[in-house]
Amino acid sequence: MEVRTDWFSGRKGIIVTERGKRPDYFKRIPEIEKKICPFCPGNEKMTPKAEIIIKVKESGELETKYGKEIEYAGDWQARVFRNLYPAFDTVSNEANYPYGYHYLIVETKEHDKDISNFSNIELKAYAQAMISTKEMIEKDEKIQYVAIFKNYGKEAGASVPHSHTQVIGSALVPPNIKREQEIFSKKENAMSLLIEEAKNQERVVVDKDGLVAFTPYVPISPYELWITSKEKEKDITKQPEKLFILLKLIRIVIHTMEKNFGYISYNFYFHISPREEEKFHWHMEIVPRVNVYAGYELGFGIVIITANPENVAALYRDSIKENFEQLRDRL
Ligand SMILES: [Zn+2]
Ligand SMILES: [Zn+2]
Repeated sequence: MEVRTDWFSGRKGIIVTERGKRPDYFKRIPEIEKKICPFCPGNEKMTPKAEIIIKVKESGELETKYGKEIEYAGDWQARVFRNLYPAFDTVSNEANYPYGYHYLIVETKEHDKDISNFSNIELKAYAQAMISTKEMIEKDEKIQYVAIFKNYGKEAGASVPHSHTQVIGSALVPPNIKREQEIFSKKENAMSLLIEEAKNQERVVVDKDGLVAFTPYVPISPYELWITSKEKEKDITKQPEKLFILLKLIRIVIHTMEKNFGYISYNFYFHISPREEEKFHWHMEIVPRVNVYAGYELGFGIVIITANPENVAALYRDSIKENFEQLRDRL
């Protein structure tokens, strides 16, 4: 048993894996009765009008269309529209009002697909939709932060089973980003230090194509994985080619998680820099929702860690190792 404190995330945890007990996983509850899906092609009228669509031209190239340029509702590869139940909007500008934008990206036409089996063209359209949505939101100078995240499956908080991503632009900078911003302002090389530590402790899973994937020292959930760039870059969404490579790596990671745990729910989120912040180093955090927080975690802030992050890294490494290129370039 071991008490751990993570200087970057601020988390405190206890490793309890010596109990020798294999943890139980929470599987994703399958969709039992299929309701009419508002995100499936043909049902576009059930959502607010698309403000961006990504189309695939006959040449195979992508085309981005905005607002009034969108003539025909069904003609999309990825589709971006406002959330019907927004957490932020632009109705008021007053001090305590949650000023901002809340969009959804539907990245695939196929109801049952998740990112582990997206095709390359779906990943490219996804990257393009993310970049275009963020740029559209950032035209409003009041927006200080754009949060991009995915909830997949009920256990991860998704209310619609069809794969989608949320993009929230806000005038406020969320507290977790503020915390990290403070760390980077004192230690600009904080992410390189984290990578170095992960290397020394054998928590690195993948180190390829300028990206590093590793398990965090104190995970919030067992089997959590982080991905970042080797070189310091503040915002991955400024680099379309690299974002596509990152999405391919996420496809491998989710595939690997599903291979080991069966169908699971998961969240992932991009931590990128706030507007005009230079010292940030982007990274993303992927959290399979295989456990729930119990009283000790919720009430006292200590995470009981039932899977040793070093062993989890070894498990992922072994699953990916031999066929990395094949997994990366398939589809
Ligand atoms: Zn659907
Ligand atoms: Zn972070």
